[in-house]
Amino acid sequence: MRYDAAIIGAGADGLAAAVMLVRSGLKVIVLERNERPGGRCITREFHPGFQASPFCDELPPIPPEIFWSLGLARLGAVFVPASVSTALWRDCAKSLAGNAGLFRAQSAATIRAALERSEKDILPQRKASFWTRSQPVRDAWPGEAWAARSLSDLLSGGISDAGARALAVAEALGPRAAHPDLAGSALHLLAPPSGSGLVAGGLQRLADSLLAAAQGGGAEILCGLEVTDIRRHGGKATGLRLADGTEIAARAVVSTLDLKRTFLSLFAWNDLPPEVGNRVGSFRMAGGTARLLFALDSLPERPAFATGDLFAGPIHIAPEDSQFGTAYAAWRAGTIAPHLPVILRAISATDPRCCPTGAAVMTATVACVPGCLFDGSWTNEKRDALREQVLVSIERVLPGMSARIKACELIVPPDIEEALGCTDGDLWGGDIASDQMLGFRPWLDCAAPRTPIDGLYLAGPSTAAGILGTCVSGVFAARAVMADLKARRLK
Ligand SMILES: Cc1cc2nc3c(=O)[nH]c(=O)nc-3n(C[C@H](O)[C@H](O)[C@H](O)COP(=O)(O)OP(=O)(O)OC[C@H]3O[C@@H](n4cnc5c(N)ncnc54)[C@H](O)[C@@H]3O)c2cc1C
Repeated sequence: MRYDAAIIGAGADGLAAAVMLVRSGLKVIVLERNERPGGRCITREFHPGFQASPFCDELPPIPPEIFWSLGLARLGAVFVPASVSTALWRDCAKSLAGNAGLFRAQSAATIRAALERSEKDILPQRKASFWTRSQPVRDAWPGEAWAARSLSDLLSGGISDAGARALAVAEALGPRAAHPDLAGSALHLLAPPSGSGLVAGGLQRLADSLLAAAQGGGAEILCGLEVTDIRRHGGKATGLRLADGTEIAARAVVSTLDLKRTFLSLFAWNDLPPEVGNRVGSFRMAGGTARLLFALDSLPERPAFATGDLFAGPIHIAPEDSQFGTAYAAWRAGTIAPHLPVILRAISATDPRCCPTGAAVMTATVACVPGCLFDGSWTNEKRDALREQVLVSIERVLPGMSARIKACELIVPPDIEEALGCTDGDLWGGDIASDQMLGFRPWLDCAAPRTPIDGLYLAGPSTAAGILGTCVSGVFAARAVMADLKARRLK
């Protein structure tokens, strides 16, 4: 059996690509190595009766036209509107308002414009060397000017209050390890770590809707099967080989794995054209995020000074201007800074069905936690120490939280790598830096979703479209496959 398209990975991008391709009458297979589809959009019981999504609570927004064209609302994916973030210190709380809100609106408008720019790369391209075909006239990307600016510098121009500025930095960086004083860090404003709002019923509901849409259209989704090789013939991708030795022939292959995982684990190194090997080798990826899932007897007391609905949105714990640089420097050295950026989320406050009545689920997402520690791998003692450190930070702003804990699961970057196959546990598919963003993501001056291997398309977080929203890179890869099939570029 030969398929029109074989998709590697049944996360949001892989399933969105499958929906688009089957709707245009193509024969599609999706291969997922885990026992169930969803990728990072899963929700599971981490303690009897308590549910949470282990890798993230919220994803970047799905652009409205893609959300509606995938028919997700009809299939049950309902988003709770994104809520206001709060910074919480021992004795005061602050939400983003005024100029800080303006930055958000400005980045949302730039992301929309970049989405339009990225769509241009889907047009079929004339046969030429991959490395030269899009270069003669390189259209500027919206937001390119931020490649030379630092986040601190950009924000200090508009936000005078130190607390509000620290919150704006914390919100832009999210749980990524980055230094806001470095040139190019302003690009984080184009890569919102969240903003879709929570999915009622957990992220699994989003995965289930995408799965229903893909299967309803006739896509074959096979789980528990790991892809080990992308087969090539005459320089073109011709299908896949699985860990059990099965071979699958396809006219097009779409990989939703990150750049390094796609090219370094699914091809032999010496089978890659040298310029591909060089770029992939120099592409920087590193995990920096840890997560704690808390099953609680009840929600902690809301501090009297915190106005508004504190538990409806993300809570940044005591952000400070100097904290981000120090935490980043420690992360680069493979150590853990004493004061880490922590984002708390009271999941059960917006979705009470995730735990028994009266109880609560909270998550803590922690930035600048290295995947590789300078003194060796993550032992149980090191995990316990990190858990303790985060709890001490939380106790400072929400006293009494520790006493309510019934169970706590800690997830560090190696666990993320093991569960999702992301290189080094990097959920973002590569550093957000001027040589790895917009028109340079992932190839220098060449557009994804196409790759230097004809017939192989890249979706997922390492692509330019991957930063613009959830499902976007899958949909764009599918459109590129359809355009190339129509132009008879795929046999
Ligand atoms: C700017 C930006 C912000 C982002 N914000 C967040 C965020 O806040 N939180 C977050 O988690 N992500 C975030 N992401 C990542 C983004 O959400 C992802 O691009 C996308 O949503 C995840 O869907 P996916 O299908 O690409 O990957 P995944 O959900 O990771 O799915 C990949 C699937 O492939 C499977 N797989 C791996 N190896 C193999 C193999 N060899 N064979 C078969 N299957 C395999 C895995 O099991 C997994 O199911 C962000 C990305 C960017 C760039």
